[in-house]
Amino acid sequence: MVFAVFGAVPALASPNHVAAQGCVGNPVTVQILGSGGPRINPDRASASYLLWIDAQAKLLLDTGGGAYLRFGQSRARLADLSLVAISHLHPDHVSDLPAILWTSTALREAPLPIVGPSGTEGMTDFQTFLNRLFGAEQGAFQVLRSTLGAPPAPASGGGVRLEVSVADARKTEATTVFDKDGLTVTALGIPHGPFPTLAYRVQTRGVSIVFSSDQTGTNPRFIDFARGANVLIMHMAIAAGTKSPLHASPAVVGRVAQEAGVGRLILSHIGLFDLDAAVAEVKQAYTGPLTVGADLQCTPVQ
Ligand SMILES: [Zn+2]
Ligand SMILES: [Zn+2]
Repeated sequence: MVFAVFGAVPALASPNHVAAQGCVGNPVTVQILGSGGPRINPDRASASYLLWIDAQAKLLLDTGGGAYLRFGQSRARLADLSLVAISHLHPDHVSDLPAILWTSTALREAPLPIVGPSGTEGMTDFQTFLNRLFGAEQGAFQVLRSTLGAPPAPASGGGVRLEVSVADARKTEATTVFDKDGLTVTALGIPHGPFPTLAYRVQTRGVSIVFSSDQTGTNPRFIDFARGANVLIMHMAIAAGTKSPLHASPAVVGRVAQEAGVGRLILSHIGLFDLDAAVAEVKQAYTGPLTVGADLQCTPVQ
């Protein structure tokens, strides 16, 4: 059975309508801010997710294009976040980070913990990425220099100070990247062509959520990493019957979720292709509860 928990919210829904959606009525809820991939899409922002605990959004995972608008529509508060976790440095996962941070000192006083991946040839590590964005001397957005600890630019709202950590995406074992505020977050490097990419597993309130990010689905350790999660978000980036050196086919997405024995699979990072055919291919291997992701959709984790 395929269904969307609480359904999708129309792209132009008013913020008040969105606030009434029900992300805050459960102990733990995952909300999709962006359910699309990199291609321009009339209905889906690029990858971004929130984890709500009680009435607060505590985790922001990825900040792809459109996350800035969707974050506002979700009624999440920057001041409530315990952690921002970035899976990898493709623009469809991180390009709205400067927009979200700009003038954020007006919204939050406490430093904001943020974690991202190590680098490789052709893709910098997360700290270098932030230095090139926000560095006081050479940064593209020097006006956000305060995010890295420099004095704020004159006459600038600046950006909230970031507490940056970098997780090694090449390690074969999972790494604990955050353990505070009732949230335990571990990260595991997953294969996404040559690009260092992190999947995250969050444990809180006796439940677990795994965010897979982009991957080929060829690392068997990911199945152990995701095993028994209450909710697993997998990225269905390519059409049924196709292959990619960067992305798992729908058939592989279904097989991974089935082998991991998860409580619910949410499909996200959905491109402009025949969705019914792709979901049918997933269901050939995966027989459990399934949700097709949509922007601003909320799914209770239980
Ligand atoms: Zn992507
Ligand atoms: Zn990617």
